[in-house]
Amino acid sequence: MTTATDTDIEVHDPATGELVGRVRPAGPDEVDAAVARARAARDGWARTPAADRAGLVRDAAGALRAVAEELARRGETETGRPYDDGLGGVLAAAGTLEQYAELGPLHRGRSLQGSWSATDLMVPGPRGVAAVITPWNDPVAVAGGLIGAALVAGNTVVHKPSERCPHLGRRFAELVASFLPEGVLEIVDGAGPTGAALSGHAGIDLVAHVGSIAAGRAIRQAAAGTGAHVLLENGGNDALVIDDDVDPRWAAEQAALGSYANGGQVCVSVERIYCAAAVAEPFLDALAAEAARWVYRPSAAGEKALGPLVDRRHREHVHSHVAAAVDDGATVHAGGFVPDGDGAFYPATVLSGLTPAMTILREETFGPVAAVRVVEDFAQGLAEAIDDPHGLAASVLTGSMANAQRAWRELPVGTVKINAVFGGAPGGAAEPRGTSGSGFGYGPELLDEMTTTKVVHWSPLP
Ligand code: NAD
Repeated sequence: MTTATDTDIEVHDPATGELVGRVRPAGPDEVDAAVARARAARDGWARTPAADRAGLVRDAAGALRAVAEELARRGETETGRPYDDGLGGVLAAAGTLEQYAELGPLHRGRSLQGSWSATDLMVPGPRGVAAVITPWNDPVAVAGGLIGAALVAGNTVVHKPSERCPHLGRRFAELVASFLPEGVLEIVDGAGPTGAALSGHAGIDLVAHVGSIAAGRAIRQAAAGTGAHVLLENGGNDALVIDDDVDPRWAAEQAALGSYANGGQVCVSVERIYCAAAVAEPFLDALAAEAARWVYRPSAAGEKALGPLVDRRHREHVHSHVAAAVDDGATVHAGGFVPDGDGAFYPATVLSGLTPAMTILREETFGPVAAVRVVEDFAQGLAEAIDDPHGLAASVLTGSMANAQRAWRELPVGTVKINAVFGGAPGGAAEPRGTSGSGFGYGPELLDEMTTTKVVHWSPLP
């Protein structure tokens, strides 16, 4: 949890409000210096054999595993993310670094059939210096993927971790940097202004941003002035559509998991739920019962961890969506209030009686809120799910092959999940659409984003 002072960013534990630490944001001069060091290291790193680069990244992954518990504890103190979830995120980062260490040397171009004597090659090469700007909600896993892919592809990196977990971000990045030649991975601390100075810097060749839609837009504009390649993995407003042929209690478990995991602060959290009227009543009853099981520090069987939100500023945002819906006539089945006491806690919440124009259905809430709209049938739910400018992901629960097929064909999003709100094979990569961003943020395709391809036509002397 953070508050800004004139010079320093203060980080507070979102469970207790206690001060965890301060960081001084890097100003334009420090951003200049970091970019200059990364540029100076660029050619040497690009010319380092791909297998050697990969070996260093693999070594860093091993070191990360060794400190995973420390990083998970740090994450809990800075962002409130429950320890087990945070540990999963750090280990995911180690796994992704290892994956990119495997994939980097295998990333290849093509040869083309020109004439008999000529040779035509399409050769991928590093873009140069990558700015990697990351959020707080899964900070190590997100940074690990982007930094790992950038490095194995031969780019040097200037990384700006989120101002909401700067100590965790710096600890992770310094650990990786300690395996690399000087300047290959630079780190700058700071919030939006530091990120803006970095993303608009003329010495940056690629900006990879994971975060909010507003920041992504600003970055796209800044990069338009420099010609840097832009990769944006931004916010979503993911729908869950529930058909009338599914068990409403199982649907409630899925809805609760999608809405409450990591306090609803997952990019692909379930943000809006369209439930067919025939199963709505038992679904809402079961969902309210599910909500009661999501508690801080679970102790009884069946309870699940719900940490605090990242800070009180974010809690105000979440509650503003809930309060506006309630003012406009929504029914509260669980939660829906700002609790007394320290920290930034918010209860698992269930709302119904929503109409399509409400902010809670139109914008990303990013909190533990299951926002349910009862619809006539699957077709109406799907139509309303489609009618949205975001394009990150969506889920459907249905026993009907025809409805599932229609859903994945028609939903204008990068990821469609059928009969599970989370999951997917490792290495899966999709492109967000609409306001949610552009470009492959994960998987082997991320190496394509991190490289630029040159075509070589090579003829013999006449
Ligand atoms: P944010 O955009 O506020 O911050 C993310 C990073 O961008 C931070 O490092 C921040 O300092 C920086 N930043 C902010 N303004 C900037 C600017 N004008 N120029 C350059 N950098 C700037 O987002 P957040 O609150 O940290 O993260 C939550 C958001 O991230 C949610 O919307 C969530 O959906 C999204 N997210 C998306 C994905 C995905 O894969 N699509 C993954 C995780 C999080």
